[in-house]
Amino acid sequence: MTSMAESAILLARKQKNTRRELLKTIGAGAFVASLGACAPMPAGLSRYPRPYSRKPWVAPRISMDAVIREVVGHRPYRPSGFVVKGEQFDDKLVVHNYGHGGGGISLSWGSSALAVRETRGMPPGDVAVIGSGVMGLTSARLLQDAGWNVTIYAREVARHTTSNVAAGEWSPFSVYNPAYATPAFMAQLEWASRISHHAYTNLGGRDYGVSWMEAYTLSDSPIEETLGELADLFPYTASLQPGEHPFPSPYVHRQVTMKIEPAILLRRLTQDFLLAGGQVVVTDFADKSEVLSLPESVIFNCSGMGAAKLFDDVELTPAKGQLVYLTPDPDVDFWTVGGGEGLLYMLSRSDVLLLGGTFKLGDYTTHAEPQETERIVSEHRRIFSEFG
Ligand SMILES: Cc1cc2nc3c(=O)[nH]c(=O)nc-3n(C[C@H](O)[C@H](O)[C@H](O)COP(=O)(O)OP(=O)(O)OC[C@H]3O[C@@H](n4cnc5c(N)ncnc54)[C@H](O)[C@@H]3O)c2cc1C
Repeated sequence: MTSMAESAILLARKQKNTRRELLKTIGAGAFVASLGACAPMPAGLSRYPRPYSRKPWVAPRISMDAVIREVVGHRPYRPSGFVVKGEQFDDKLVVHNYGHGGGGISLSWGSSALAVRETRGMPPGDVAVIGSGVMGLTSARLLQDAGWNVTIYAREVARHTTSNVAAGEWSPFSVYNPAYATPAFMAQLEWASRISHHAYTNLGGRDYGVSWMEAYTLSDSPIEETLGELADLFPYTASLQPGEHPFPSPYVHRQVTMKIEPAILLRRLTQDFLLAGGQVVVTDFADKSEVLSLPESVIFNCSGMGAAKLFDDVELTPAKGQLVYLTPDPDVDFWTVGGGEGLLYMLSRSDVLLLGGTFKLGDYTTHAEPQETERIVSEHRRIFSEFG
């Protein structure tokens, strides 16, 4: 297969190997010495980068008056991690690509690339994709690039999916429970993260709703570094000292990552899919036998939480998330996590100022809880009233 998926995998592997080999071969000391031996810097360029600096901070405007909507979504969470694998049912190949918990937007291109790889060696023909969320749309686009003729079958079109509820931080975490994840899954997670990161950096700009931003974690206790193998994907990671930031918390950690605005991304992917000749059929499959009676002999299962019913996945559990949307505040150019009671995050997007959140495992209810809205808004008001 010479698809985008395959070349993205190869490129990610090459980049990672190059970095590893470089570090292994020369070591930090040799690297610094080699810099010293370089030719003199051109006039006007400093040998050392200037310190990290930013525009003046602007505190977000937060009040109950500014609340536009409360939204709820169910992250499709599996303790042992998301599923990417082909499964044969008589003459039908089903490729599963679901269960991405709180990281599906981040992982989409990479996980879908791994899923499309399950068709390697097959001549492209008609293929069905179940689901019109981020996993269905990215799988469909990669399949189209590889020459397949794709029909998406979905109960909800993109704007009514969980994917459209996501906050939009590039952060492939909150995806599994370390107690249940195997080394094979950890390798799959790393591959999917790297390929996806690479793909999103290629889509930067307003068209796809992809931009870069600073994220600050606020805490009363020392913050543990948790980026692990993926640390190189987060530039300017640092612990800030008092006086280096305006937050009221004693411990503050910075990283720079991508902001992906789900509504823009999903709209654009749907357009791309239709322009490339794809078709969407709105339908609600009752069970596996209905899925397997589709005319296509290759079927991608990107049904998110739907896989619990369609393919009897008993591990799949919803993690209910509640967000509060406020009117947008375009002057705010950073986001925060933590800093008060319960799960908290503030993300400034072009469509809304978003406040979160909750992560309630096993909670299937779909209503917004007034006491959570009250906590989320009042805790953020407190954090930013002490800002400065
Ligand atoms: C509050 C919240 C915040 C989040 N924040 C982030 C974030 O900042 N970053 C991040 O990376 N991720 C985030 N996520 C996670 C992310 O939203 C999910 O991992 C992702 O949307 C899963 O995408 P999906 O395409 O697999 O599923 P979905 O978007 O749920 O799409 C599933 C599709 O399958 C269809 N389907 C299901 N069952 C059937 C059926 N029986 N018949 C026909 N069609 C069916 C649905 O109609 C839908 O079209 C967040 C999630 C929530 C809830």
